[in-house]
Amino acid sequence: MYSENFIKNYTLANLEKKIIELGYEKYRALQILNGIYVDRVQKFEQISTLPNTLKNILDDTFLINSIKLLKKRQSLDGSIKYLFQLNDGKSIEAVYMPWYDEHNGEIERITLCISTMAGCPVGCAFCATATLGLIRNLDTSEIIDQILFVENDLSIKISNIVFMGMGEPLLNYKNVINSIELLTLPENKLLSRKKITLSTVGITNKIKQLANSRSPVKLAISLHATTNGFREKIIPLAKSVKINDLMDSIEYYYRKTHLPITYEYIPFENFNDTFEDAKRLAKILKRVPSRVNLIPFNDISFTGVSGLSQTLKSSSKEKILEFGNQIKEFGGVVTIRDTFGTDIEAACGQLALKEG
Ligand code: SAH
Ligand code: SF4
Repeated sequence: MYSENFIKNYTLANLEKKIIELGYEKYRALQILNGIYVDRVQKFEQISTLPNTLKNILDDTFLINSIKLLKKRQSLDGSIKYLFQLNDGKSIEAVYMPWYDEHNGEIERITLCISTMAGCPVGCAFCATATLGLIRNLDTSEIIDQILFVENDLSIKISNIVFMGMGEPLLNYKNVINSIELLTLPENKLLSRKKITLSTVGITNKIKQLANSRSPVKLAISLHATTNGFREKIIPLAKSVKINDLMDSIEYYYRKTHLPITYEYIPFENFNDTFEDAKRLAKILKRVPSRVNLIPFNDISFTGVSGLSQTLKSSSKEKILEFGNQIKEFGGVVTIRDTFGTDIEAACGQLALKEG
């Protein structure tokens, strides 16, 4: 099956073009999107606004769903890891995370963490997905279908999307930007730009391109070190992307979009959690409005790889708190991340298609 067969690979503009090629009026494209994204039809014949001849053509030309469920695992904390199969047999994962109101215990928002690639080519030493290498980029429909599938499966509405699953979103730029465009198209009634966060290891030219696009979203930057030397030890790509250049692209992003930046930082014991690191990190945080999210290291020893990932050890809880306080004293804004789904290997960096 070719990617042009999947209807969710078409942005509004591309679908309008295609519909005109098929001999119909341009406005039919919006009726089709309405059927797919608002009414969630499973067959084109269910879109009552379309003429029968067009329904038949669409049924012969396009497929609606591009992923299917392989497995689901629920964590004690309520999060659920979905394992999906793509059309060519490859698999990917997405993680559903409900956030509860402290007072009344009701769900106050629902975040879905989605994948943009099967595997990832970047090779960070601490990340389980890295052990897979790049299997392939996901197309737009495979990115969007993770959301529609989970909404349908649980009969819920997802309020926030984070591009923090498998893969580096900015190395699959076109498909990711098309998915953001479809997700934020007002007529599709899905999400606003401010409810979407894209996490990147820092692809500077693409950060600038996203800033200039029609749909910039919130940016999270996987920093994880405050000097180039230490960053290179754990993120191979840091050899070509120096922290200063990364900061320049982030400043550019902020000036264009006025969206505050989040830095992601895993404190590793005696590696990047020193007083000097706290000082340098606070300086980085002051460049444009931003905060750092300290992420406890999630164990990836289940992947069985050896090397640096075996010697990296999470800083203790107390040390993370102390490190956070030091950053605050130097004037930085700090949050410490709650980790979801560690019991089912669904936490950050644990997505590596382990069965079980
Ligand atoms: N490729 C993108 C997005 C996917 S990774 C990126 O790197 O930003 C999502 C987040 O999980 C990143 O901040 C990443 O650094 C973090 N992460 C990876 N492995 C982890 C681990 N073992 N423990 C905690 N966080 C991890
Ligand atoms: Fe890829 Fe992100 Fe994992 Fe690095 S942390 S290997 S960029 S998914």
